[in-house]
Amino acid sequence: MDYQAILNVIQKEFSPHEDMGKVAGYIPELEKVDPLKFGVYLYCQDGSSFQFGDSQEKFSIQSISKVFTLTIAKELLGRDLWKRVDVEPSGTPFNSLTELERESGVPRNPFINAGSIVVADALLTVLENPERDLLKFVRKLCGDDDIFYDESIYKSEKSHGYRNKALVNYMKSLGNIENDTEKVLEFYFYQCSLAMNCEQLSKAFMLFANEGLHFQTGEKVIDKQSVKRVNSIMQTCGFYDEAGEFSFRVGLPGKSGVGGGIVAVHPEKYAVAVWSPMLNEKGNSALGMKVLERLTTLTGFSIF
Ligand code: GLN
Repeated sequence: MDYQAILNVIQKEFSPHEDMGKVAGYIPELEKVDPLKFGVYLYCQDGSSFQFGDSQEKFSIQSISKVFTLTIAKELLGRDLWKRVDVEPSGTPFNSLTELERESGVPRNPFINAGSIVVADALLTVLENPERDLLKFVRKLCGDDDIFYDESIYKSEKSHGYRNKALVNYMKSLGNIENDTEKVLEFYFYQCSLAMNCEQLSKAFMLFANEGLHFQTGEKVIDKQSVKRVNSIMQTCGFYDEAGEFSFRVGLPGKSGVGGGIVAVHPEKYAVAVWSPMLNEKGNSALGMKVLERLTTLTGFSIF
């Protein structure tokens, strides 16, 4: 498969223009990002890689981080985690509060904000320094120590994260938050502020394309069952109330973030990361969705 030729076609077909969507505005620091940034990096299981555009520039990975924290929590807590967070698609926006009362404070899945905040709380209970351990885990997955939290994004979200404050307090009142709500949010905002580029993201997500083995060393990081679980939650819940649409158009498990990144996984083939900061009305990268749809059309294969 000539992936570079396919990426070249995609780059020619889709040049970003400002009316494609809107850069996230509710975190002021994210609004400063150039909307026309556009990059792709595809890493194959055989070690070959293909790219174009701004694939080496770091951006705020935001909700893509939810996959990393879920993976760690699943390893440390096992089945107990599912008592506190469900695995059902929500059909509601990423920051929704509406289902929580009906579900007694148990979020629909770990990829909406409420669910990831519960995962953050669970990690805070079992780890002495979750910020440090998360960073260590992500750096190890990428084989690259040049990954950091972006303090300005962290501070910006911390001072404007009214919805997330409401979510954590509401869940605390319903008995599904164990730690101090400020501490939980602090960790949650840090995880969202991780800055990575498309190359680092695609390498990290090879874990889910490669049966839980590290892309470079072959070391077993998680078992096949965890890979199945995380990929299936990405497939059904990775794009909030657009998860069905992404599955329908692209046909791969994936995860988006309001920084404009999307990572998708083709098990036993590749992991691919796209970055274009202009979001559609569901909070997913508008161009990113198009690019990945085109990729699975031009290659002629998806997981279906
Ligand atoms: N940090 C963002 C928030 O909590 C993450 C949302 C997202 O990327 N969809 O609102």
